[in-house]
Amino acid sequence: MHLDEQLNHAPCGYFSLSGEGHLHSVNLTLLDMLGYGGSELTDRHIEAILSVTNKLFFHTYFYPYIRLYGHVKEMYLSLRTKDGRELPVLMNGVRQERGGEVFIDCVVLEMNKRIEHEKDILRTKTQLEALYQATHEANLRLEQLHAEYEEKQQELLRLNERLETLASTDPLTGLRNRRFFQERLLFETEQYGRTQRPFSLLILDIDHFKSINDTYGHPVGDLVLASLADLLRSNSGPDDVAARYGGEEFVLILPGAGRDDAMCAAERYRSGVEAAAWEGLRITISIGVSTISPGDTDAALVNKADHALYASKSGGRNRVTHADGT
Ligand code: GH3
Ligand code: MG
Ligand code: MG
Repeated sequence: MHLDEQLNHAPCGYFSLSGEGHLHSVNLTLLDMLGYGGSELTDRHIEAILSVTNKLFFHTYFYPYIRLYGHVKEMYLSLRTKDGRELPVLMNGVRQERGGEVFIDCVVLEMNKRIEHEKDILRTKTQLEALYQATHEANLRLEQLHAEYEEKQQELLRLNERLETLASTDPLTGLRNRRFFQERLLFETEQYGRTQRPFSLLILDIDHFKSINDTYGHPVGDLVLASLADLLRSNSGPDDVAARYGGEEFVLILPGAGRDDAMCAAERYRSGVEAAAWEGLRITISIGVSTISPGDTDAALVNKADHALYASKSGGRNRVTHADGT
């Protein structure tokens, strides 16, 4: 087969332009690509197979470039088929002189597949971006939810703390209640079993309190109870536990206090109450004291202090008695 024939059927489009842009020769492959037959394109201007936008491109880029460098390489453009479709192609062109005349020889390759491929990539990229965006938003939401959860958790902890305080507080006096006292006494007793560090228990009872109520009324009695609680609170040490045992009876746990320290503290409370200003009322308390010794249970300790209190009452009230009889 002659080389011209081979060029005619080459697996790429080929055309040759005159210096003015007229199609000098067009191979069969390109004619097929564009849907033209025979010599339909011969001597037509290149513009005949260019889309409107590409015409401009040709004049502003293709011709000046060829003039300057003698060639163009890997130029992407769209040709126009006979029936008006756009045909994306990749084009190389080179300026040649033949017999004193200038020609521009060009080859074009269809780019349909590549462009579809690029569109695919672009679509995938867009989808990926959307996915990233969604993930990002989901993460933000998750962080927000986490923060809300933490906040709720903290709130719950605060509520629990408050609930616990409420459950262990006596409403009238604000002191610890009997339940809290019992738990703490058990704890101290068990700790004594391990460490032998002594502690003492005071039970305080207001003398003739019934007559305060009877004479001045229950609300005044309540005020006396609250004031006595304040007095106990402000005179007890940071480790001491002051609680309302019930009615007009109060208890104090004095960690680290042996018999003498406990008696000293008890006497301080007794004289403090006696000396306090009660707005004309005479208020005194009787106290029973017990100090832990080996083998004592928490109940035994309360029992001993209670007996000591009874002794203070029967001994004339407004006094302090220790369970060991002194
Ligand atoms: P004693 O010196 O023997 O302890 O005599 P008392 O009158 O203090 O003892 P008693 O056990 O006979 O009376 C205690 C009184 O305490 C009876 C009760 O009405 C009163 N009381 C108990 N709880 C409260 C309270 O919450 N508020 C008031 N106002 N009175 C209370
Ligand atoms: Mg009583
Ligand atoms: Mg009493």
